[in-house]
Amino acid sequence: MLTNYVYKLRHNQTQSSKMSAWIDMLRSQYNWNLNDRITQYNQQFIQGDYCCIKTKAEASPLTCFVSKSGATGNPWKDSKFDKEGKARNPRRSAADIQITALPELKIARPWYAQIDATVLQQNVKRLDTAYKNFFDGRGFPKFKNRSNFTSFTYAMGVKIKGNKIYLPKLGWMRFYNSRSIPDGFTIKACTVRKRQNSWYVSVRIENTSVPDYSPKSLGSNPKVIGCDLGITKLVHLSDGYQIENPKFLTNKKAKRTLKIRQRRVSCKVKGSKKRKKAAIRVGRFYQKVSDKRQAYQWKTANKIVSRNVDVIAIEDLNISGMMRRCKAKSDGKTGRFLKNGQSRKKGLNRAISDASWGDLGLKIEYLAAKQGKIVIKVNPKHSSQECRSCGHIDKSNRDGEKFICLECGYHEHADIGAAKTIRDRALKIVRGDSAKLGVTNLNAQKISPRSTSKRGEFGNPSNRDIKNAIS
Ligand SMILES: [Zn+2]
Repeated sequence: MLTNYVYKLRHNQTQSSKMSAWIDMLRSQYNWNLNDRITQYNQQFIQGDYCCIKTKAEASPLTCFVSKSGATGNPWKDSKFDKEGKARNPRRSAADIQITALPELKIARPWYAQIDATVLQQNVKRLDTAYKNFFDGRGFPKFKNRSNFTSFTYAMGVKIKGNKIYLPKLGWMRFYNSRSIPDGFTIKACTVRKRQNSWYVSVRIENTSVPDYSPKSLGSNPKVIGCDLGITKLVHLSDGYQIENPKFLTNKKAKRTLKIRQRRVSCKVKGSKKRKKAAIRVGRFYQKVSDKRQAYQWKTANKIVSRNVDVIAIEDLNISGMMRRCKAKSDGKTGRFLKNGQSRKKGLNRAISDASWGDLGLKIEYLAAKQGKIVIKVNPKHSSQECRSCGHIDKSNRDGEKFICLECGYHEHADIGAAKTIRDRALKIVRGDSAKLGVTNLNAQKISPRSTSKRGEFGNPSNRDIKNAIS
């Protein structure tokens, strides 16, 4: 079993300034590597695989640096055979090339030698992961700035003794041993992260003798609960239970505090020390909000998962789609922009991101996997507009919290009704009825393909596991 433990570090002044310096250097290395890959790609786009377009000579390390993998450096591996005598692909991948270029980097820029070697390698691999995500259909890797590059990773060499941790090239450091690592677990990797108030370390530990969590198989009549996520109430369950939404960032008090603190930044002289201090206070407030939200979400997820059910049905929401900005409208004649409703939507978008349903969903999945329960993601389309009695779908069926069907007059609480609809859709999947409903309905109620979440390695059931458990 593989799991992560996070601790707060108790570093000294030298160590923290060293770590900050590392982050700056690693960020610049990351950006350099990204730029390297982009320029190489562009070059190849023009030249193809050829070193010279006239003669159509193939790219070779002896004559030029154009490489197929999109990174400068030697594109070939040293030998065509590995240790066991098997033939291997002699071309290096882009990450291989960039990793083998590290010693040269250390000669050209000697100050990089003070960073641990595995940290530099992991930094290259981080870019590789970003590219992999891109090829899987996510966004293109971004150049990093101070705000979105705050961590580095060790692949090995980390030791823990009592409440002290050894990080190579940084030395022994104390940490708040908030929970001890269980016996038999070995340290696999370790990520150091800078947050607003301090440095944190996330230790990845593994024990191969402990089995992963596996889902219990479902009986013929599984108990299913449906969750409807919302803003006025965070969660409505299909059994009528409601969970409040404290709106940590968008309630009246928080908004006021944030406004005051941000004003204190903007009225200070630019570049002054006081402005920096005021900005830190804003950051601290954000961190507090995020900590509170995390704690609340764990509690909420636990409340939902520990109910007496076998299957938890949650909505498969397209949150980034919901938060997309309204399209710009412009006047055809003058080219002036017209009102498009974005300023009205802004508040809603903030409330959505404050509720952070996606994170809550991940926590529910994680806790459910721990208890052997199954989470099914259900298409939420029209779940709060469809009549549960006659199936009539109409936007005006719903008026705030009330649901009254315009066709048959059926009425109930709109969100609880939606939760019940979600439960019923999940039940259909569990019972395998969806196969009989035809292709369109099946698509509407399929299990989300994205079950490998951030916490995938914690033993979340994959789709295959769910199907096995159902059949
Ligand atoms: Zn009806």
